[in-house]
Amino acid sequence: MATVELSNLRKTFGTFTALESLNLHVDDGEFLVLLGPSGCGKSTTMRLIAGLEEPTSGEILIGGREVTNTPARDRNLAMVFQNYALYPHMTVGENIGYPLKIARVSRTEREAQVRTAAAKVEMDNLLTRRPSELSGGQRQRVALARAIVRTPQLFLMDEPLSNLDAKLRTVMRAELKHLQKELATTTIYVTHDQVEAMTLADRIVILNDARIQQVGTPSEIYANPANTFVASFIGSPPMNLIKGEIRAGVFKHAGGEISLARQPEGKATLGIRPEDISVADGQADLAGQVYSSELLGDSTLLNIRSGEELIAVKAGPEEGRGMNEPINLVFDPAKIAIFEDGSGERRSK
Ligand code: ATP
Repeated sequence: MATVELSNLRKTFGTFTALESLNLHVDDGEFLVLLGPSGCGKSTTMRLIAGLEEPTSGEILIGGREVTNTPARDRNLAMVFQNYALYPHMTVGENIGYPLKIARVSRTEREAQVRTAAAKVEMDNLLTRRPSELSGGQRQRVALARAIVRTPQLFLMDEPLSNLDAKLRTVMRAELKHLQKELATTTIYVTHDQVEAMTLADRIVILNDARIQQVGTPSEIYANPANTFVASFIGSPPMNLIKGEIRAGVFKHAGGEISLARQPEGKATLGIRPEDISVADGQADLAGQVYSSELLGDSTLLNIRSGEELIAVKAGPEEGRGMNEPINLVFDPAKIAIFEDGSGERRSK
């Protein structure tokens, strides 16, 4: 187990900056998820921590020890990637035991450790199979067992579940979370899937354009997104962002008006999550027309057209509506966020 400290970490490729000065502390035993869209710098951060890439500037400490220029093999970490990279000619047992073989662990000790690691991912009854005889989920479990067999001080996982189908991914996600808590090994996990990040992480780091946008627990980030990028990246569907203008304590937008006391005048964006909007009979914060109504089983997702925008509303399962019906909506005033025009930063309440 170990803490990880990244100080002013920067990476450029020629004139291109893949990572701006990044500062981050990862706690001992923490499950930290790096989340962001393609190209935001997630894998670069991971490769720098792993020692597969050298930073342009900055420092990396693992377990309090500076490793900025230490080769990957001397960092005592294990990696799990999207492509499991199993050796096809080796059995499951040989694949799992390979890191121990490299480390010259004796055969008997190796066999015992392989059995323990394989049992943790429920693969101990398939040790003599070859990777070609396994399902995708089983292969991913072998890759996990191979990572845990050496009891490293740090796990680095880069989209390890993305090759699996949706159902298996959900199962493996729960297993991975359980296993990480059981082993209590510090884990840094990269994904572009916000559901995976929300469900797995102790804390999430949201990256965009080579910069950290926000660091926080899943519930902090969901309830209080720092800016419009985070607001529109987290949640399914994400937070509604409605453009408008504040004049004399009233936010005017294409679909109506909302009183907002104590807010500075001028253009702004109002943020509200789909579940914090309800359908109203009388006076409304927004009047629009039903664009679509989708029954999701436990709820109905309504998309409401308001001017140029579509507003998502999570309503009860009985609240389905016909297309183009006029509809009035009210927003929970306690859940409204106001973002600056231009910078997109959230204003404090
Ligand atoms: P994805 O989810 O698509 O893997 P990512 O967030 O992991 O994206 P990175 O792989 O960290 O993104 O890449 C960040 C940026 O740096 C990208 O724009 C990428 O094109 C660029 N980049 C990465 N490696 C190199 C390289 N060796 N040479 C030049 N540019 C690179």
